[in-house]
Amino acid sequence: CGVFGIYGPGHDVARLAYFALYALQHRGQESAGIATTDVGGNIMTLRDLGLVSQVFDEQKLRALPGDMALGHVRYSTTGSSTWENAQPVYRSDRREIALAHNGTLINAVELHGELRERGVAFRSTSDSEIIAALLSTHEAEKIEDAVADVLPRLRGAFSTVVMTDDKVVAFRDPHGLRPLVLGMLGDRYCVASESCALDIIGARLLRDVEPGEVITITDGAFSTRMVVEGERKAFCVFEYIYFARPDSFMGGTVLQGARGRMGELLSREAPVDADLVIAVPDSGNPAARGYSRASGIPQDDGFVKNRYVARTFIQPGQELRKHGLRLKFNPMPEIVKGQRLVVVDDSIVRGNTTRQIVQMLREAGAKEVHLRITAPAIRNPCYYGIDMSTREEMVAHGRDTEEEIAAELGADSLHYLSLDGVYEAVGVTRETHCDACFSGEYPLPGTPGAQDKHAF
Ligand code: SF4
Ligand code: MG
Repeated sequence: CGVFGIYGPGHDVARLAYFALYALQHRGQESAGIATTDVGGNIMTLRDLGLVSQVFDEQKLRALPGDMALGHVRYSTTGSSTWENAQPVYRSDRREIALAHNGTLINAVELHGELRERGVAFRSTSDSEIIAALLSTHEAEKIEDAVADVLPRLRGAFSTVVMTDDKVVAFRDPHGLRPLVLGMLGDRYCVASESCALDIIGARLLRDVEPGEVITITDGAFSTRMVVEGERKAFCVFEYIYFARPDSFMGGTVLQGARGRMGELLSREAPVDADLVIAVPDSGNPAARGYSRASGIPQDDGFVKNRYVARTFIQPGQELRKHGLRLKFNPMPEIVKGQRLVVVDDSIVRGNTTRQIVQMLREAGAKEVHLRITAPAIRNPCYYGIDMSTREEMVAHGRDTEEEIAAELGADSLHYLSLDGVYEAVGVTRETHCDACFSGEYPLPGTPGAQDKHAF
């Protein structure tokens, strides 16, 4: 998911939220929503299934005046893709709040049970409403005190923004699994999942919201409180590899550059005698350029991508995933015919996309297809907010070697970038990151479903 929040009297805050969400669209395409309020006023929310541009129009934005705004784009990992699960979540138990959350709680069942026992009713099946209910029912007078009390009881991934009628409060789980940054627009503060959302509204990136930190934004000022300190940091490496936008600044680097270096390292780890490097667009583009640069093998566009087709994986269900693909990529026989190809992509999860890509290239006359992937093999589910849930559907599950997987996908060869290579390309260390979907080492003790794996 993608989240945004701003305290901005004097600005057209709904419009700012709209454009910020527009820049975060890649983080979730199932639903979009904006909540606004005046200081001392009532919160209004508008949310619906669909893309940001489908949910909102000029008239709807005008119907959302306010001094503060919250925005959310959703990509479901828990709870199905229904209207009720769209965000921002709105609750008015003891206090009126709107909340936008990116991540997944690993103790949702427990907390849900606890709240039900206290007689709290739920409208949705998303774990985000649990956080909202804990905060909305909380007896603390100030929202930031409620957050400070609730935060240590939440386990898992949560980059969260809450809005009341007088404040915007942002907080991040103590492991820092998902991103969240603080920005400044004129003399107003805002928060967003990625810096690309700040760029689009003309805001300046100040810094990350720190893991375990609560930032309270009010009129032209913010205050901060570290609520949980000293936990093992576990920022998601998959954000660097695939999920975040290439123009976002993350882990001390702009991701486009890191992804280019991943491609260079791939060529060093697994050189091929080939004629042409092509990317699986768009996610493979920077790495393909890097591979070409480091290997000296020329690069060209082997596919035209229909830019109006959303990321195929985002529509849940195998059925849709399969049909989405022909619409999305069309190979160019003039370029690939008779060529020994290096095909660069960011990751292989289920293998459906990749298998069809190999097949389309063969049909277009490619002589050889060598897959080079900038992520290690994915063999373990993610419990922290990325939709990779069952081992059985992962193509690398039960296949131990690259040869086996290459054969399964119909490719002449396959190489996955090593985990060391990923860290080297980004310039960060493993100790502060999560790479559980690759390594099976879950950084949060007690991750459900991961007990069979070595937790740290
Ligand atoms: Fe990211 Fe993988 Fe960890 Fe999930 S398991 S948080 S996708 S690195
Ligand atoms: Mg891709």
